[in-house]
Amino acid sequence: MRPTRSSLQWLTTSVIVYMVLAFAWWAFELWRQNDHLLALSEQMLELKHSRSGQGINLTALRETAEYRALLERHRKHQRMILSEGIFFTLCLAFGLWVINRAARREVALARQRRNFMLSITHELKSPIAAMRLALETMARRALNREQIEKICTNGMRDAARLQTLVDDLLLAARLEDDWRPHPEDVDVRSIIQDCIANAQVRFPEANIQVDIPADFPPIQADRLGLTSVVQNLLDNALKYSPPSAPVRITVEPLPGRQMRLSVADQGVGIPDEEKPAIFEKFYRLGNEETRQTTGTGLGLYIVSQIVRLHRGTIHVRDNTPRGTFFVVEL
Ligand code: ADP
Repeated sequence: MRPTRSSLQWLTTSVIVYMVLAFAWWAFELWRQNDHLLALSEQMLELKHSRSGQGINLTALRETAEYRALLERHRKHQRMILSEGIFFTLCLAFGLWVINRAARREVALARQRRNFMLSITHELKSPIAAMRLALETMARRALNREQIEKICTNGMRDAARLQTLVDDLLLAARLEDDWRPHPEDVDVRSIIQDCIANAQVRFPEANIQVDIPADFPPIQADRLGLTSVVQNLLDNALKYSPPSAPVRITVEPLPGRQMRLSVADQGVGIPDEEKPAIFEKFYRLGNEETRQTTGTGLGLYIVSQIVRLHRGTIHVRDNTPRGTFFVVEL
């Protein structure tokens, strides 16, 4: 059985509470033993004085050098119990924090791996099934030209979907390995237009606005890399928004840099606590079994790695009045 987040939290909390209580108990016992030892030593000292025939009262006894040495040793033990206690508590807290963090990561990783397997299976199965059905239909039935054209268009769309998936998988693997940008002069406007044309095949109702200065100069970047960045951000903006909600792509010059590119949508948005995780490989919000949208969790990982290898930055924040706002600075 896989550990869930709440069972893990419950287990960790119980272990922490048990260890803290057990440790507090032992510290308390040690403290008491130390007090007890002082009382006993005091009695022995008193006995020693009365045996040697020099009866002495308690106040006078406490003034003797022997008693002061005893008291000093007692205080030293108290200090030792306290300092070792504090040190041990800190070590314990640190150790538990490290274990807890590692366990949480393990659970998150297991969830991501499972999500990835489920999503990739779905992503592969549906276009293959659709293409198979299309070919079977063409083989079995006499179709007119218009019907054949429609089936072929759908088939090409499915093949393109598979191609994108395989490209993403390969690029993600290469990004972990030897992918380096090959900078050349690229026209950002034409890259955006190509990406929009691609997106419109999958999102025919897309409402995309582009805002780029007419005289915006070419920038130095890897053409395929930059295309992948724009395409992934645009596809996500459309995928996680209602069908005809507006998506705005803005390109502007940035002092000290080449450009600032932003993609803003008015879709479902990303909760603040999820924002740092979305750039991780295979990370997808929610659960694969209940999720409506298709995807692999590779898109933003690819985007962030390409931007990083261009020595650029990427940030995400909420759009107003709703939705998500991605900003890439190169
Ligand atoms: P995929 O889209 O294949 O799931 P991504 O890496 O592109 O993977 O995105 C990771 C997650 O971030 C998505 O599953 C989605 O939940 C969230 N996300 C990305 N872009 C947006 C967006 N524009 N609006 C809302 N959520 C988004």
